[in-house]
Amino acid sequence: MPFALHGIPVSRGVAIGRAHLLAPAALDVSHYLVDEDRIEDEVQRLRAARAAVRAELSALKRDLPRDAPEEMGAFLDVHAMILDDEMLSREPERLIRTRRYNAEWALTTRLEELMRQFDEIDDEYIRERKADIEQVVERILKVLAGAPVLVPAPAPALSADGEPAPGVIVVAHDISPADMLQFRHTVFHGFVTDMGGRTSHTAIVARSLDIPAAVGVQNASELIRQDDWIIIDGDAGLVIVDPTPIILEEYRHRQSERALEKKRLQRLRHTPAVTLDGIEIDLLANIEMAEDATAALAAGAVGVGLFRSEFLFMNRRGELPGEDEQFEAYRAAVEAMHGLPVTIRTIDIGSDKPLDARDGRDGRADEYETALNPALGLRAIRWSLSEPAMFLTQLRALLRASAYGPVRLLFPMMAHAREIDQTLELVARAKRDLQERGVPFDAHLQVGAMIEIPAAVLLLPLFLKRMDFLSIGTNDLIQYTLAIDRADNAVAHLYDPLHPAVLQLIARTIREANEAGVPVAVCGEMAGDPAMTRLLLGMGLREFSMHPAQLLRVKQEVLHADCGQLSALVDAVLQAYEPEEAAAALARLSRG
Ligand code: PEP
Ligand code: MG
Repeated sequence: MPFALHGIPVSRGVAIGRAHLLAPAALDVSHYLVDEDRIEDEVQRLRAARAAVRAELSALKRDLPRDAPEEMGAFLDVHAMILDDEMLSREPERLIRTRRYNAEWALTTRLEELMRQFDEIDDEYIRERKADIEQVVERILKVLAGAPVLVPAPAPALSADGEPAPGVIVVAHDISPADMLQFRHTVFHGFVTDMGGRTSHTAIVARSLDIPAAVGVQNASELIRQDDWIIIDGDAGLVIVDPTPIILEEYRHRQSERALEKKRLQRLRHTPAVTLDGIEIDLLANIEMAEDATAALAAGAVGVGLFRSEFLFMNRRGELPGEDEQFEAYRAAVEAMHGLPVTIRTIDIGSDKPLDARDGRDGRADEYETALNPALGLRAIRWSLSEPAMFLTQLRALLRASAYGPVRLLFPMMAHAREIDQTLELVARAKRDLQERGVPFDAHLQVGAMIEIPAAVLLLPLFLKRMDFLSIGTNDLIQYTLAIDRADNAVAHLYDPLHPAVLQLIARTIREANEAGVPVAVCGEMAGDPAMTRLLLGMGLREFSMHPAQLLRVKQEVLHADCGQLSALVDAVLQAYEPEEAAAALARLSRG
């Protein structure tokens, strides 16, 4: 029987395929006693899971890119060793045989015992292996749960009977932004999660992959079963489970129409983004990794407006990248852009972007356990300023990259004058460090602030005086203006980019920056939403930064826009407070 689930649309398009359920990474397993006559089967189940993880680890090792850091290989070797060690084989099997524990229960019981023993060891190196053991156990548990840990083997393009092979759609309770990033080289065709809001970072990464996705689809991971046929209607946030042939046909048709539209848009790649009244608009790209620069160029971006550097810092189990490693990553992005400007934002960690995928909102990591409200806690520039050694390392790496092409530094979540002062002081210190080492950098490199806290808008004159450019982070600006957690699906219906208060703040920032002659961009998700293009142009915005996948659709809007005409229409929008009045003013803005 077909049924539909409703969620929040976060990445457009249609995906059709079989469900692939990803078990939560949590060590949260079922506990039951195995029947006497099934004991040997249960032991075999555990052995088979270990064998599958062994195969997975050697496949990962075999497929490591040639330029992968040496530690990657060593780390996989350590995991293989742990997997084969008696500590994870003999004792859990004994628990199955003597206590009739199911495999998962036996394994986690053993894990707890090992963790206790390791805590007592007075050797830091050995204590650090704790995390490795936990990860290996998690891998086995995921296989036991029927969900391969990493990415399954690529699906064949054709199935045995010559029909196109079905796509694979990931269904999960939640996916961390870093895990999502892992999926960029996989064969997944879509994502459905129980959790998440429109501008949660998981959603943002899904959009950057240009893969249909729906988040906040409550209970999806419980209602959808492994291998169920599903359709994601990414425009509507709809998930159709077990569709009838007629529904399938309809969506296949929509899929091919969309593919055609994408192809048509490609023609605009080299067309300059100029409005009907001759105003040049800069369309830049948001990237998460240096390698995304290729997609940025392919989409015709005239630079990178936001490189979210924090992705470089994620899932490293407490070990942050050093100056050289960071420098290489930043330089790679700069060189890949061939002389076009690259705006690199300093680390913006915290809230729904924990350093480790297992940390964060569920409160499991020590660091966040104490944070009462991580979105209002020690995140972004606040964290950087509280860790000056880490921040200086990043600043030196960024400055070094500026010797290879135009780099601009962008600082997230500034609100206080002293944050500006301290940040600029640290930039000056990083410059001095490099000068002393005789390392080249661009002495005139520009520094800018993200405007994403309402207080910053109210303090614009200060920002305009001290900063070379501004970039409006609408995702957080909306969150903090409306007091709506951007990642919480329970309040997602209240997360409204068109709320008059939000529009006032954006318009004011653009107007004051334009009047002061300070470049201003929008790099939040609003910049990549073609439905917002005319509104932002009418407010006077001339620089938009978005995921490359959105760029040509936005360019199409720019090409049909007349800024002069739009600015009068936007004035009416900004003066409307009553919902009907605002809706009517917005309707007059839309094209056609
Ligand atoms: C924003 O807040 O709009 C932004 C661009 O930053 P992030 O989404 O990474 O918080
Ligand atoms: Mg932000």
